[in-house]
Amino acid sequence: MEIFEEIEPLRAFLQGKRSALNSIGLVPTMGALHAGHLALIRACKAENEVTVSSIYVNPAQFNNQTDLDKYPRSLEADIEMLKAEGCQVLFAPQDTEMYSGKSLTFDFGSLDKVLEGEFRPGHFSGVALVVSKLFNIVQPDRAYFGQKDYQQFQIINQLKEELKFPVELHSVPIVREKSGLALSSRNQRLSDENKTQALFLYHSLTDAKDQILNGVPFAEIKSEVERRAKQNRGVQLEYFELANKNTLQPLEDLKDIHNGIILIAAFVNNVRLIDNILLEKKR
Ligand code: AMP
Repeated sequence: MEIFEEIEPLRAFLQGKRSALNSIGLVPTMGALHAGHLALIRACKAENEVTVSSIYVNPAQFNNQTDLDKYPRSLEADIEMLKAEGCQVLFAPQDTEMYSGKSLTFDFGSLDKVLEGEFRPGHFSGVALVVSKLFNIVQPDRAYFGQKDYQQFQIINQLKEELKFPVELHSVPIVREKSGLALSSRNQRLSDENKTQALFLYHSLTDAKDQILNGVPFAEIKSEVERRAKQNRGVQLEYFELANKNTLQPLEDLKDIHNGIILIAAFVNNVRLIDNILLEKKR
């Protein structure tokens, strides 16, 4: 695997690889890799001659300094995992390579005012900035993101449309532990007991999906989830919402239920976790 910390040598290397026959796929990550990330690498490898992964903990997308400081970092182990998966190129820059002090901000209208956008102001502006930089640096034909960060995918899609990035975006299903817990780098900060508490997220989603598809009003389901969260020591619910999967605005018309998605965010032992479930098909 070729490893680059700097933009220009990476660009020169990729220039040599770029041709009508070779497609380049990009998998952006913040490292502390797990099987969820590896599913993206595998999807990318299946469809592209060259797979480029990036590992960069992007300060611009953190609205909380402690969260940034505590974000797990394990570059050596990550490199071994990427090599084992057959990833050909890793871009792992330092902050000085990515930012020169000035910063651009983005506004996505209604899309970044709800859910994650409401609770993490500035987060999606930071995501859009780093993804724009990565798209410009790598110029991938395809880029791969996880469904776990569902709103992030919608944001990047709007970014691509508005800025005319010639890239095909792919969304990869959520990889979970056997228990149902969505894999996340942040799970490293959870004890076994915390992981059991964290199942609150997955169970709330799957129970709600069954209930909604059986005609139970969402308002009823939501207040029950809020009530159970209050009783559950160690879980602090931030949001639990039913939205239209394209606009992420509240879904009110139940005729539209198959375009619905339920999204949840909660702190477990001060670790912020998110998850979601689409309503389009039965589990
Ligand atoms: P992160 O390193 O957390 O920024 O994630 C990098 C990419 O991996 C993002 O596109 C995430 O949506 C994706 N990802 C993270 N966790 C999972 C998971 N459990 N299943 C599938 N994709 C994931």
